[in-house]
Amino acid sequence: MDEVEAFLERRVFKWKATKMCTVCKKEIVRGLVEPVEYSCPTLWRLYHGYVMLKRNCPNQTHVSVVKVSDLRSEERHQVWKMILQHKKQHKQSNQSDSSGG
Ligand SMILES: [Zn+2]
Repeated sequence: MDEVEAFLERRVFKWKATKMCTVCKKEIVRGLVEPVEYSCPTLWRLYHGYVMLKRNCPNQTHVSVVKVSDLRSEERHQVWKMILQHKKQHKQSNQSDSSGG
């Protein structure tokens, strides 16, 4: 599977309301799409079936899980940008790693 195919197979959270989650302290914005792994960690666990949550995330009633291939093109673009941004941040935090091996 190439990178584009993998991208299209991704699932994203799409928010149906604008709210602040009191449990995760996460702000959601209506209409915004986010890659599941960079979004609300509580919902991520729920989505992956680890449903042993002590406290439910109230945002779970305001979310729908959508495949990237089902998104509109500007939404796909949004998701793609978030992924790139996240990768960049990750790289920066690993930069102190010297040439060990
Ligand atoms: Zn939450």
